[in-house]
Amino acid sequence: KMMEQQNKVIREKMGKIKHKIAIVSGKGGVGKSTVTVNLAATLNQMGYKVGVLDGDIHGPNIPQMLGVHNVQPTGDENGIMPIMTKEGIKTMSIGYFLPDQDSPIIWRGPKASGAIKQFLSDVAWGELDFLLIDTPPGSGDIQLTTLQSIPDIDGMVIVTTPEEVSVMDARKSVGTAKVLEIKIIGLIENMSGFVCPHCDEVVDVFGKGGGEKAAKTLNVNFLGPIPLDVKAREASDKGIPMVSLDCKASEEFKKIVDKIVK
Ligand code: ADP
Repeated sequence: KMMEQQNKVIREKMGKIKHKIAIVSGKGGVGKSTVTVNLAATLNQMGYKVGVLDGDIHGPNIPQMLGVHNVQPTGDENGIMPIMTKEGIKTMSIGYFLPDQDSPIIWRGPKASGAIKQFLSDVAWGELDFLLIDTPPGSGDIQLTTLQSIPDIDGMVIVTTPEEVSVMDARKSVGTAKVLEIKIIGLIENMSGFVCPHCDEVVDVFGKGGGEKAAKTLNVNFLGPIPLDVKAREASDKGIPMVSLDCKASEEFKKIVDKIVK
């Protein structure tokens, strides 16, 4: 009964958000959170109202990547107020509720997916053009519950890297999408080549076109490559999205977002 009530509230809240997109990856460390934050920042620069839900309950790093520190979420009868970044992106993360950044979170599956559902039902997101959901990595039950909890989800964006293993991991995400009958918006190949800090040329460490080939094999749309960029990573550590810098990666993000918006 309580669950029915919660699902009803989720439908109401999500009904005010035009587009809901999940960012997924088959494994950790491929840059899923980085991609989420930069897609959000690009959409925000284009004038869209954007929210980011950090679905990583065990290692929430969206707050740091968005440059949000020392905040205390507040709430009223409309729910928990999302935290607003200085650029105007609304965010919610379990990280905002921790006494300090190093607190370990060792929730098990049901409690963790319960927390994500609560972020959908209890946060006063208001009207948004886009809600990007940074889902937990892998294909475990937390990821499945997250994806299933979002009514009328537009689809998912798969993030992978050029190495063979990671492309194989992307295959898992394609399988998840099929099972849950969620549309795959497309695949992004992150860490695709390396931007030389001296000359700004992109060096293709793993060879060119791997992501595109993988997308073809998996029969999904290829959204584009994002190169590894040291400058971008340094910025990200300081909470500055790389798309606010003048760099190769930010050009690529703009092209990708144009495709997603269409
Ligand atoms: P995931 O969310 O998949 O675990 P993260 O987004 O946390 O991965 O990225 C892992 C690390 O790699 C972070 O330190 C991030 O700053 C860095 N990183 C990700 N993508 C890039 C990129 N294109 N250029 C430079 N650094 C990157």
